[in-house]
Amino acid sequence: MTHPATAQRIATFGTTIFTEMSALALAHNAVNLGQGFPDFVGPDFVKNAAVAAVQADLNQYAPMPGLPSLRQAIAATWADRTGREIDPLADVSISSGATEVLCNIMLAFVNPGDGVVMFEPAYDAYQPDVIMAGGHAIPVRLYPPDAQHSGWHYDDAALEAAFAQRPKLLLLNTPHNPTGKVFSASELQRIAELCQTYNVLAVVDEVYDRLVYDQHQHIHLASLPGMWERTMTVNSIGKTFSVTGWKIGWCVAPAKLISAVRATHQWVTFATSTPMQQASAVALNDARHNGYYDQLISEYSARRIQLNTILRATGLPLIDAEGSYFVSVDVAPLGVSDVRVFCRRLTSELGVASIPIPAFYLAPGAPALARFCFAKKATTLAAAGERLTRLHDIDWTS
Ligand code: GLN
Repeated sequence: MTHPATAQRIATFGTTIFTEMSALALAHNAVNLGQGFPDFVGPDFVKNAAVAAVQADLNQYAPMPGLPSLRQAIAATWADRTGREIDPLADVSISSGATEVLCNIMLAFVNPGDGVVMFEPAYDAYQPDVIMAGGHAIPVRLYPPDAQHSGWHYDDAALEAAFAQRPKLLLLNTPHNPTGKVFSASELQRIAELCQTYNVLAVVDEVYDRLVYDQHQHIHLASLPGMWERTMTVNSIGKTFSVTGWKIGWCVAPAKLISAVRATHQWVTFATSTPMQQASAVALNDARHNGYYDQLISEYSARRIQLNTILRATGLPLIDAEGSYFVSVDVAPLGVSDVRVFCRRLTSELGVASIPIPAFYLAPGAPALARFCFAKKATTLAAAGERLTRLHDIDWTS
């Protein structure tokens, strides 16, 4: 679909799977459990803060690195989570969502020819970000749970082989989209050891860090010994406060890394929405004390159980989420040969949208999994459940 005059770097970009599946869902009036965004409203204390910020006339350009109030709120939250006091002005930079800062980081650190290690399936923006910087992805495969492994897992020798290629960066996502994997303490220890042995900088995308279930625990890679100095931690307001349209993101890292991130941010967006930054500062400050995070996890746990019950009723094998708001289902028993085709047909013929997990793999041989999002109202999940009772009335082999 590229025009002959376009740059070579966009030749493989196409259209994101989220755009494709949401458009299809809309066209077929389908229940959209595909693209990850809540269909319920964000909390009043957060929405009211946005209204107040606009009314207070915080409506002109923000400082390029971000509003000081937001950087302070992020630093305070970071200290709560990791015990480390950081400099809010030097060690934090604000961007238009995690999406922008991830791109800024690649543009700031990756030279043409550099490799970036990432686990696949990988969030769909990662490889394009690396390509835009002139680098290439070095994928390390995650495998679904099996008889020997209770969760998604990887081969340690493959991870070490990836580091042995002397990458510039490791790009890690935990809790992980699309698998719902939460990297364990021992996995993170090993990753930290490899980063130090091979002198690799780490970028950790933690946008789902507040959505972790049961016995699982989110550990910040930056909090492990020797890792603060070499880690850029990315987060954003969207998932945690159910306001994905706000697009306020940030990076926490030592000042010398942050100054490189700002060097690219200033030429990409320069500054990010002022009132939404102020509202995000209020959200983060209030949430430190008002019990919001506990309520969030209990509501998401209920949604996860509801969706799991619905999906289990189909008889298809389910892979539960350790974190994030995604679970997946193995559609191979339906005789499906192409999961993308299955997801399109599920949307158009049954009226339930999901996302094909193979869309997140960089190399062929992906498992036949479809991802379903449970950031949805109970009534939305129930409507999907009602439609899914007809799953076996359709021949999916054709
Ligand atoms: N992160 C969301 C998901 O995985 C979608 C974000 C987007 O639409 N780019 O579904």
